[in-house]
Amino acid sequence: VANAEPCFGACDLALKEAEMLNAGLIVHFGHSDFRVKSKKSVIYWPVEARFDEARVAEKIAEICRERNWFRTGLGTTIQYLPAMKKMEKLLAEKEIKAYSVQVLGCNYTAVKKLESKVDGFLFLGDGLFHALGMQFAVGKKVLALNPQTLTVKELNSEKDSYYGQRISQISIAKQARTFAILVSTKPGQFNITLALKAKQLIESSGRKAFLFYANFLKAEFFAGLQFDCFVNTACPRIAIDDSSQFAKPVLNFKELEIALGKRRLEEFK
Ligand code: SF4
Repeated sequence: VANAEPCFGACDLALKEAEMLNAGLIVHFGHSDFRVKSKKSVIYWPVEARFDEARVAEKIAEICRERNWFRTGLGTTIQYLPAMKKMEKLLAEKEIKAYSVQVLGCNYTAVKKLESKVDGFLFLGDGLFHALGMQFAVGKKVLALNPQTLTVKELNSEKDSYYGQRISQISIAKQARTFAILVSTKPGQFNITLALKAKQLIESSGRKAFLFYANFLKAEFFAGLQFDCFVNTACPRIAIDDSSQFAKPVLNFKELEIALGKRRLEEFK
């Protein structure tokens, strides 16, 4: 039985559905194991993005030579990872030492570990979400390269505009009196401990907080409700990519702490 709902990552395992359908096995396509506990057996089935590796290696070499990056970190999503070992070999022939690692929208540990070894980073993939996350995670420059179109994007202006947008949301939230705390029931996103901590923090500052749960948290579910601010405890992408769909600011937990004066703005990353 195929699940027809959208799926955002291996954090989004269809455990409840598998239970209801009495399935013996879950086959999860396109993402790697996120260490979500499951009573059912799970197979993580890779889905590889295909691209012209020789052309992309040539483009990477061109970018690296222009910048004197002879040791380069390549961050990519799981769909592009299988081709990366081949890419490392092709780049070695062009005298570029490349290290490829996987990035998740909520975990950039692998690129952070690489930082001391490389001169700069490239993100290989589509969209700017992961590339921007990489740029916030490391001090060295990150460029985004789309392996299909070979377009290259600098992230400076995106970083500034994203930072400005978050600061603006935090300062609006400072005046908020009522907060809706969002909890996702997706197995790898469910964090009721953090949600209760947020509730306690808000109430201890003399404001009101209410918890809401849903599997897929969408702005339209909250359209008629009068809250001054939303606090996201699920996938960080909700506050980053979807916040413009909400009528009021959407903060992640650390941003809430800043808005309530429990953390310094300088600590914002
Ligand atoms: S960024 Fe969001 S969708 Fe991706 S793995 Fe993390 S929680 Fe899941």
